Amino acid sequence: MEHKELREKLLYTPKNGYDRISEEERRNVFKAAEGYKTFLSRAKTERDAVMTAVELAEAEGFVPYSRGMKLTPGDRVYTVNHGKSVILAVIGRDNLQEGAHILAAHIDSPRLDLKPMPMYEDRKELVYLKTHYYGGIKKYQWAAIPLELRGVVALTDGGVVNVEIGAKPGDPVFTITDLLPHLGKDQSAKTLAEGISGEALNVLIGSIPMADDEGADRAKLAILSYLYEQYGIREEDFLSAELSIIPNFPVSDVGLDRSLIGGYGHDDRCCAYSAIRALFDIGGVPAKTAVCVLADKEEIGSVGVTGMQSQFFDTFMSNLCGGDCFMRECYANSTCLSADVCNAFDPIYAEVSDPRNSAYANYGVGLMKYTGARGKSGSNDANAELIGALRAALDSKNVVWQMGELGKVDQGGGGTVACYMGNRNISTIDIGIPVLSMHAPYEVIAKLDLYMAIRAMSAFCAMEE
Ligand code: MN
Ligand code: MN
Repeated sequence: MEHKELREKLLYTPKNGYDRISEEERRNVFKAAEGYKTFLSRAKTERDAVMTAVELAEAEGFVPYSRGMKLTPGDRVYTVNHGKSVILAVIGRDNLQEGAHILAAHIDSPRLDLKPMPMYEDRKELVYLKTHYYGGIKKYQWAAIPLELRGVVALTDGGVVNVEIGAKPGDPVFTITDLLPHLGKDQSAKTLAEGISGEALNVLIGSIPMADDEGADRAKLAILSYLYEQYGIREEDFLSAELSIIPNFPVSDVGLDRSLIGGYGHDDRCCAYSAIRALFDIGGVPAKTAVCVLADKEEIGSVGVTGMQSQFFDTFMSNLCGGDCFMRECYANSTCLSADVCNAFDPIYAEVSDPRNSAYANYGVGLMKYTGARGKSGSNDANAELIGALRAALDSKNVVWQMGELGKVDQGGGGTVACYMGNRNISTIDIGIPVLSMHAPYEVIAKLDLYMAIRAMSAFCAMEE
């Protein structure tokens, strides 16, 4: 064999996706991005993401599931859990005990939650909201940027008030102030982690004192009276609220070639969107039932009633299978793509990654055999056989994909919902879109990788093993 032939046959050299796709496919890459940008603009919290996903699903023929309802192949159903997680399914031709194709993504993102008693007035009539951060954030990134307030307040009469301030044109926004560099000598000498502390993440929300009032906290009283007029909420009602402070940035194209998308919450709403899109795109009746779960609480350990460790998923699957023992058999024969973002190699911070084992922006959807930290601890570590079958499925559909790893050995680490699906005896592998500036208020992904994530999940749903 000529050396050139040998090289082509034996060496594996991943290529930039744009060197591998046709003109027509390039147009599809840019088209797919528009649908996602609309989704991300609306899905700013897990509750918003569930509502948006359900709205899209209903337009695609999905109906609410109830236990015992008669299902026939091709039927499309969904069920919502406490407004913060959702499962969708397309019923397949095969018996469920032969296994399902499961897509699992999460719809919560790092943010600042309001404390139960958030509001206070500080010196000279400045009013603030105290926060407790949610998920892994670099605290300094949250100062000196525009912020919005979103969430719900549950009242004692059973009513729930929806709060959304900052997103609509003309809305006020909020901010966390930072120190001017002129007086930043002591702050600049601290580490990045200590420069702005958790207790300093206080959001400025007002400054005009109540007129004709002699008491304390006049500016706070004025803000509370505004909230009472607009929303009917009193200070005590913050005790039963889920209000979050999130970045107030529009979802935008990044770069002169518009190849990238910037926005808040790509982790993991880009994979959540890809998963529902793949489910919607199933034409007719799939061989295996396709199930998509969009879970909450991944960023804090997949715990709680709406997290991936919750029995919510098992209850739905047990009902679908007709009992727990059938569900266990179904799990044993099922495969799951844990659809969560991976880190994109960042040349500016090249030293934290192994360049031979990194995912790159524009090199396609990333597979991760394992995640974890310190010797793969906490990782799902997918079976070689599963990866082999998936490689074949992706290659047969010309999906551009790559294998990645979360940084150099012992550089850090992280996890996904994969291990909780693995614990259920479901063969699982991590797959996701590479992200630059992951967990920052403004994250960046490549449109090509988003498109390939959708195509990969579609190819997975079409597998007939
Ligand atoms: Mn994630
Ligand atoms: Mn994350």
